[in-house]
Amino acid sequence: MHIQVPGEAEILALWERGLTRHPIDRALLLYAWTRPDLPASNFPDLPLGTINKALLRLRETCFGPRIIACMDCEHCGTRMEIALDTGQLLAGIEDDTPSKLDDITAEFEVSSFRFRVPCSRDLAAISGERDLKAAAVKLLEQCCLEYPKNGDAGFGSLLVEAEAAMEALDPAAGINLSLSCEACGENWMVDFNIGTLLWDEIDVRARSLLAEVHSLAQAYGWTEPEIFALSSQRRAAYLDMVGV
Ligand SMILES: [Zn+2]
Repeated sequence: MHIQVPGEAEILALWERGLTRHPIDRALLLYAWTRPDLPASNFPDLPLGTINKALLRLRETCFGPRIIACMDCEHCGTRMEIALDTGQLLAGIEDDTPSKLDDITAEFEVSSFRFRVPCSRDLAAISGERDLKAAAVKLLEQCCLEYPKNGDAGFGSLLVEAEAAMEALDPAAGINLSLSCEACGENWMVDFNIGTLLWDEIDVRARSLLAEVHSLAQAYGWTEPEIFALSSQRRAAYLDMVGV
């Protein structure tokens, strides 16, 4: 699927529309950019991995494949820099994913309970739950399609098996990074949320575009479309002259 590069005015439009939205909706808004050919009303029901893979490709289209993230070691607090590559991340999650998953919802069975893999609508439904275990059980309830007739086992006892099945069917739903700290030698796992990362980068880009428009509009009286129509070289030269 070819993803169109959003222009400056389009980056600003996406940012404006996403600014007041919940992170789950922001991810769907960005996904919509990658699939203008599909009806947006179905996006909340798509498997999470479908959204994540498209957002990794969109990230590559907008800002290139290299991702540099900074975080503190969970154990000793040392600041560390992590270099990631969208191609490598995609290669790690696409191997086992049947391409048909992109448009359908995968289902599986555990102890005669029938489930489907989670989608954004499910994440929204559990977003208020602070307790991790309770959230996992609630997510399973959300994804349950069929109960066994005489089944009285609680969802809690199905968690481990169901989560493993979900991960096997939709490996891109959760991207885990294995990190190790050079200072203390500890290893640990973190969740990598491409939706949040990409939104933060779009936010930074949009605010810097607004600052450029502000400086040039103030100095020359040009409108936003007039400023966006300038080549990047001309714009940089004018910004230089107004002392930005
Ligand atoms: Zn450390």
